[in-house]
Amino acid sequence: MPQSHPVYGRIDGPVVIIGFGSIGKGTLPLIQRHFDYDADRLVVIDPNPDTHLFLSQHGIRHEQIAITRENYREVLTRMFPDGGGFCVNLSVDTSSLDLMKLCREIGVLYIDTVVEPWAGFYFDTQKNAERTNYALRQKVRDEKAANPGGTTAVSCCGANPGMVSWFVKEALLTLARDTGREVDVPTDRGDWAALMQSLGVKGVHIAERDTQARRLPRPRGTFVNTWSVEGFISEGFQPAELGWGTHEAWFPENGHRQDSGCMAGIWLDRPGAITRVHTWCPTPGPQFGFLVTHNEAISISDYYTVGDASAPEFRPTCHYAYHPCDDAVLSLHEMFGSGRQQSTHEILDVDEIVEGIDELGVLLYGHEKNALWFGSRLSNAEALKLAPYQNATGLQVTSAVLAGMVWALENPEAGIVETDEMDHVRCLEVQRPYLGPVEAHYTDWTPLQDRWEHFPEDIDESDPWQFRNVLAT
Ligand code: NAD
Repeated sequence: MPQSHPVYGRIDGPVVIIGFGSIGKGTLPLIQRHFDYDADRLVVIDPNPDTHLFLSQHGIRHEQIAITRENYREVLTRMFPDGGGFCVNLSVDTSSLDLMKLCREIGVLYIDTVVEPWAGFYFDTQKNAERTNYALRQKVRDEKAANPGGTTAVSCCGANPGMVSWFVKEALLTLARDTGREVDVPTDRGDWAALMQSLGVKGVHIAERDTQARRLPRPRGTFVNTWSVEGFISEGFQPAELGWGTHEAWFPENGHRQDSGCMAGIWLDRPGAITRVHTWCPTPGPQFGFLVTHNEAISISDYYTVGDASAPEFRPTCHYAYHPCDDAVLSLHEMFGSGRQQSTHEILDVDEIVEGIDELGVLLYGHEKNALWFGSRLSNAEALKLAPYQNATGLQVTSAVLAGMVWALENPEAGIVETDEMDHVRCLEVQRPYLGPVEAHYTDWTPLQDRWEHFPEDIDESDPWQFRNVLAT
């Protein structure tokens, strides 16, 4: 018997998906399942000719073009002639800010999973401060401040950035309950920040371990990943970046502060994908993660700031601590070692993966119960049963896109929002059926444990949760 799926609302007008890579292809069946819309008004824009066969077999219109700085206005105003509809941006190399501004101007709902710039931006090493996620995000925040309200545009609503911001809130409520506090669920930013501060949380790792693997060993010269290789290489080459908390007593030698904007983050003069941190996930326990820059590192530190932005009373440290699938670790090793990008890129397909899960959660640390990991432990085997065309990594992202689209339809005049600013209960209600086990795990691990005692490191024993101890030397 065919499964029935809840239909969350009607999209009046065209539905335009920009980008049909691993995330676009996985989002399509969720849109088809969960929304009512005119099927003949669904269009996919992607320059890749390989997508054409699939789309034509499924009766979906394909515009085989690349969106560029020069053509985006003409293409999108043609696609959305009467206002209304939904623009779902899941591409690389297109400016999220320009696309969201245009969509809001013409009354079209908008969502993306990353603040993406136009092509070429990521690799200009002469402009490290400008190519941080801090700078990219700040432009979106400035646009929000300059033009508050209006048509909803959801910024950065994938798994991370995205879902993990909803997990932070669930984790805070879990921690409050487990430490015997009776708290009302906060309703605004100030109260959420005060809750985090009162719980004694010093910081948050976005702690991820991807154990998905296929049988075939990684061929030399091939970059293998479980999602966009291009997207991962781009962010991996950006400077390492993190939200910088008020408990930090040390400052990295290669660290740089920002001089305008929300002031929540710092960046390091080193690519994120070769900057390692000590972190913890339920399956491996202690592990190395890469401190790859991500929007949520800044947005979460900003959202939970108490007091003046430039001299806060409280702010958590926050950063990504990512152990990608083992093939991706080897791919990074090969790429940085050789100084050359591999010419062949492969995204592990749901059908070739023979084992593994994507364990993606938030590790809230420094409080009276030491550390709490809260997240999704979705296996590829379960993803295969839940929705077509995607592995576990993909489904964690696309189900967040679905949740963000539902929220936007229900709140169509909310202006530009980040996931920290959305109703996390509603969003997780929509997303949770696709997340596999969502679990809370406490651990007594700290970054001071499991060190190699014969190789003394420069550590601060007075506070295990100093970034100085988290950063691997
Ligand atoms: P992918 O590399 O598999 O696909 C990207 C697609 O964009 C390709 O099909 C490509 O042809 C298309 N494209 C390239 N240039 C384009 C242009 N100018 N106009 C239109 N289409 C263009 O990537 P993916 O894994 O599907 O990821 C898509 C985006 O989602 C990336 O920006 C990635 O960083 C982001 N992402 C976010 C999260 C999250 O959790 N927030 C997770 C995974 C991916």
